[in-house]
Amino acid sequence: MKYNEISHFGHPQHKLKFEYTTDPFKCDGCKEVGIGSSYKCNTCDYDLHMHCALPSPSISHPFYTKCSFQFLARPPGNTPRYCNACEKDVTGFVYHCKSCGYDLHPCCAKLPMVLDDGEVKLYLYRKVSESCHRCGRKGRSWSYRSACKKYNLHVACVKEMLVETWHDLNVGRGSYSTGSSTRKLETRIPSLKGTLQTRHHSKSKGKVQKCCEMAGLALQFVISAVLGDPTTLIAGVVGSLMSK
Ligand SMILES: [Zn+2]
Ligand SMILES: [Zn+2]
Ligand SMILES: [Zn+2]
Ligand SMILES: [Zn+2]
Ligand SMILES: [Zn+2]
Repeated sequence: MKYNEISHFGHPQHKLKFEYTTDPFKCDGCKEVGIGSSYKCNTCDYDLHMHCALPSPSISHPFYTKCSFQFLARPPGNTPRYCNACEKDVTGFVYHCKSCGYDLHPCCAKLPMVLDDGEVKLYLYRKVSESCHRCGRKGRSWSYRSACKKYNLHVACVKEMLVETWHDLNVGRGSYSTGSSTRKLETRIPSLKGTLQTRHHSKSKGKVQKCCEMAGLALQFVISAVLGDPTTLIAGVVGSLMSK
């Protein structure tokens, strides 16, 4: 469900307007980076992911069938808390299961179980036994895996790749135009592309390589999903940044 204008408890003084943005922004709800569908107050520079602007009071998740996650405006207690999906700290809006103590960022909670770019399907797993293309480790956080099972990528690793961009956005907030934020994102993503290509050349052969190359392309969908909006349009934007 999408609305053009909403009232939100996080910013009661003004209405928030729906905006589809190709410039990355920092969400004032969950404090994570976003792109694509957003709700914002242009007077105050207040931005929210769609998932943070229109949260469900409680959700269930297929990975944690016994859990009931409640939406909270801030993490409970005084100890640092971490997202079970991406391993990053939780400092703002969160889905929390009281009985297990599990936490999920709103965008992590809403990560699609399947990402499909038309050619390649990537499936979301709670844990995979193969090593991750980016960090080489097994286990760890949630992962997207290709149908051939040869291509695995941690949600945590995608977030790590975006961390520097996120800091740039944080630091740059207010002193840079949105245009320069986009350029900063551009400078980060090609290096990530380089990492993937090196791995493919040294490790994969034949049919598997072709599948993995395509999965590498589908990485743009993973990035846009992690940023809160796995739509074709945004994947296209991220993809064009990667190919520069
Ligand atoms: Zn958010
Ligand atoms: Zn405002
Ligand atoms: Zn639970
Ligand atoms: Zn997360
Ligand atoms: Zn990894």
